[in-house]
Amino acid sequence: MLLREVEYAKPGSVAEALELLAADDGARALAGGQTLINVMKARAASPDKLVDLNGLEELRGIELAADGTLTIGAMTTYSELVASAEAKARPILGEVCATIADVQVRNRGTIGGNVCSNDPTNHLPPLMVAVGARMTIATAGGGEHEVPAEEFFLGVYLTAVGPGELLTRISIPAGKKDGFAAVTLGADGTCICNAAATVNGSVRVALGCVDAVPVLLETGSPDEIPEAVRAANLEPPSDVHASSDYRKHLAAVLATRAAQEAGAR
Ligand SMILES: Cc1cc2nc3c(=O)[nH]c(=O)nc-3n(C[C@H](O)[C@H](O)[C@H](O)COP(=O)(O)OP(=O)(O)OC[C@H]3O[C@@H](n4cnc5c(N)ncnc54)[C@H](O)[C@@H]3O)c2cc1C
Repeated sequence: MLLREVEYAKPGSVAEALELLAADDGARALAGGQTLINVMKARAASPDKLVDLNGLEELRGIELAADGTLTIGAMTTYSELVASAEAKARPILGEVCATIADVQVRNRGTIGGNVCSNDPTNHLPPLMVAVGARMTIATAGGGEHEVPAEEFFLGVYLTAVGPGELLTRISIPAGKKDGFAAVTLGADGTCICNAAATVNGSVRVALGCVDAVPVLLETGSPDEIPEAVRAANLEPPSDVHASSDYRKHLAAVLATRAAQEAGAR
């Protein structure tokens, strides 16, 4: 389907992008376009103006600090994360990005767009919560603030990035003991259920596809996960791909699998 007519702006700086977004309630940031353009084609969203972030080098790049902290620009693509030597400091990032959709989507789609769309079936929201990522949000006028990933995701397609704001970067602390498990629709397909885990003394597991936002559980060992999932009283959605009960069952299985993978590293 053809797009409805829409204004287009390509700012030369983050400050200019923020001014454009703040000046117009109907303006939306355009990152890789792999979600936004599709929902516009389906007429599920009709922004008046697209503010294209693709020219903004300030939003790109992956830096590795001496203490192992990774700082990833919001416009970094999945393919860049997969190929990056720095990102291998936290190997799970590239491993999970390599399984998202196909090469075309991975070459265009960005880490910022993935978390800002907060589609509950996306791979990265639970991963960001499990690894303890921190999200930096910038506001017109030069202000910025940091939000931990577990407070960033607020609802389906809703995050802590408010109107007129931009996610600029994501910081991820050092660590290697991570795991990710998913049941997808075919190879590299959309997730029916997924789980990301990090072991660092305790086990930190974030479940995806079972609620509007990732569900965070903390346990002492992988063996305790099935009981923790039961105690969370999940009420996942039912759809053509899986019933609510099946997703609940998958949540316990996949969370245990992800935690075992993390513990074995
Ligand atoms: C065929 C296909 C299969 C897919 N399968 C999967 C899958 O299995 N798993 C998965 O995780 N994803 C999947 N996706 C989605 C894909 O990963 C998208 O790339 C991602 O959801 C959005 O990233 P984007 O860079 O394309 O953002 P866009 O589509 O450009 O933007 C998405 C939303 O985020 C906002 N936004 C983007 N960047 C910022 C920012 N820096 N600050 C504030 N707001 C911002 C935009 O305004 C928009 O509302 C698939 C997409 C396609 C087309």
